[in-house]
Amino acid sequence: MPKQFVVYCDFDGTITTQDTGNVIIDDQIGTAERQRLDHCILDGSKTFPEANNEMWAGVKFKTFQEAVDVCKKNNVSHDPGFNRFYAILQKHNITLQVVSAGLKPIVEVYLTDYPNVQVFANNAKITDGNWTIQYVDDSPFGHDKGAPIRKLKEQYKAQGLSDAERPTILFIGDGVSDMSAARDADFVFAKKGKDLETYCKREGIEGILIWENFDFISDWLENWLAN
Ligand SMILES: [Mg+2]
Repeated sequence: MPKQFVVYCDFDGTITTQDTGNVIIDDQIGTAERQRLDHCILDGSKTFPEANNEMWAGVKFKTFQEAVDVCKKNNVSHDPGFNRFYAILQKHNITLQVVSAGLKPIVEVYLTDYPNVQVFANNAKITDGNWTIQYVDDSPFGHDKGAPIRKLKEQYKAQGLSDAERPTILFIGDGVSDMSAARDADFVFAKKGKDLETYCKREGIEGILIWENFDFISDWLENWLAN
């Protein structure tokens, strides 16, 4: 029987080499102020939604397109190996599940050339240049990326499939908002030198693979499928 698998993937800093949110916010409030607010999340003086809302409140673009233009101006682009990875998924008829704490209208612009992708992300409403962030849920990052993975596992269980019989679940990410998904996936690809790698090692999460670009993930996947 062919090996079956499901892939969940972060967007910012994973599919793209830069973080679109950081690029847009830095353009509007400056890198120093954004980093000050990031630090507030790390030292616990602000929650993620508190700091995130404050950052986006400083953004004054009237449309998502203006924000996307800033990303393009700053050369935000896909990981160079992403096309090959996407082609492998296409070959196996797998929909890529993108889970993002970023903003859906911006994420989708970068995925327009990839039709077999489903995006779960936060959103925003723009009213006269005021950005209000709409979160997926009330978890610490406004989007519990592990939730769809746990739901899928429950569905397999309900179908009577054991962990050994159900498809293997892969997760690819780089940052702190990816931590809950890392706990729920069978294999976690954590980007080298980023917060997710630090977290997984500290927590002793099993099945960790350290990646630097998507070619590593494609090689691993092709090898895994062939064996
Ligand atoms: Mg990320």
